[in-house]
Amino acid sequence: MPDGLGQRLVGARVTSLRRRAKYGLIDIDRGDTLIFHLGMSGRWRVDPTEIEKHDHVLIETDDGHRMALNDPRRFGSLDLVPTDELDHWPQFAALGPEPLAITGRELRDRLAGRSAPIKALLLDQRVIAGLGNIYVCEALHRAHIHPTRAGGSISLARLDRLAEAIRGVLAEAIAAGGSTLRDFASPDGELGYFSKTFAVYDREGLACSCGGKVKRIVQGGRSTFFCPSCQR
Ligand SMILES: [Zn+2]
Repeated sequence: MPDGLGQRLVGARVTSLRRRAKYGLIDIDRGDTLIFHLGMSGRWRVDPTEIEKHDHVLIETDDGHRMALNDPRRFGSLDLVPTDELDHWPQFAALGPEPLAITGRELRDRLAGRSAPIKALLLDQRVIAGLGNIYVCEALHRAHIHPTRAGGSISLARLDRLAEAIRGVLAEAIAAGGSTLRDFASPDGELGYFSKTFAVYDREGLACSCGGKVKRIVQGGRSTFFCPSCQR
């Protein structure tokens, strides 16, 4: 928790809300930005009736709303940094482009010469920012790319399809209500339902839409789900 956080925020006016990678950004009119990360299970509780044990931060607005940053497990993170120094904030300095706007050419530039598996490279925040394991598996399947293929060996035409698949998978997940964790809840308490629409993730041994069978392997300590029949 940054020093004097309360003091530095009291009376400040919020000028914008943004996101970078997996961080939420709250800009205030004193030239500072509050950066928060929800970790695995954190969430903002809007207008809670009572303060709970795991509410780490409570923000009250002039018009009477309250927002509590709650995390019963492990606290994500919170920092307050000068807005014009955000690009140099350690976790942001080396970040790759945002996945919602990624292009095949950007992927090619960042994968050039890399012999590591495409699966591992897509999880590297320096290649592409904020893309999680589930979406990497789903996007590779949609683009028909085998997860062990060397990143630098994939043609631009296939990277164009991969970029399109990444954007598509994320857009559908957001439209379906967001996240994928079983205990995910949006601020209004609704659960995310994208999990019902996975093509390969968590479907080991089940049928792929092509008629093949979904396999699970472990890469870099993380599960990879893919279809050896339609991913090459
Ligand atoms: Zn398949």
